[in-house]
Amino acid sequence: MRSEIYSGIKYKVNFISRNIPEDARLEELKLWCRKFHEYNLAPPYPGGSAGNLSFRLSPGQLPFIITGTAMGLKDSPDNSKFVRVESCDVLAKEVNVHGVIEPSSETMLHYSIYKQRPDVEAIFHGHSDEIIAATDALHIPQTKTAEPYGSIQLIHSALEILADYSFIMLRSHGFVAMGNSMKQTGDLAIEMLLKAKPRV
Ligand SMILES: [Zn+2]
Repeated sequence: MRSEIYSGIKYKVNFISRNIPEDARLEELKLWCRKFHEYNLAPPYPGGSAGNLSFRLSPGQLPFIITGTAMGLKDSPDNSKFVRVESCDVLAKEVNVHGVIEPSSETMLHYSIYKQRPDVEAIFHGHSDEIIAATDALHIPQTKTAEPYGSIQLIHSALEILADYSFIMLRSHGFVAMGNSMKQTGDLAIEMLLKAKPRV
């Protein structure tokens, strides 16, 4: 289903500083990175994992911390593998960050959802063939069209159906889980996977 090969980020990164993100909650984010790997919600590929996880630094505010691009979630990453995103200019395709690596290819998708949904405190995006196959059966809202990863069209297709849902599908691509905490977001993703898995 996913025919597009990952070929890096599709926007310009402006490094405000090269400071490595520091926040106690990074330990919780790392825990969810590991869980996503364990549950195969972000399948590994040569050089990284197909998924990206973020959380807001202050309720309803825009700075957020996100996994770096092409990051292997199974590798017990240290703080340098995460990036603090201050702002994005979606139309100009520019992202303003603090960190030492480029942020996830879906940074502008996370940014756009945080902007539209002040209630969302964490966003976990992953890929699961099981959940894709069960999208209709589980009545998961789905984007109308399949769009390339990291694209403006993908962002528009997601915002168009976002409403106040906490779990949506990007058609032929993957899922986006949202919640008012990392725990709520991660638990929801795992719950959907377990519901999607064929019963034996
Ligand atoms: Zn993806």
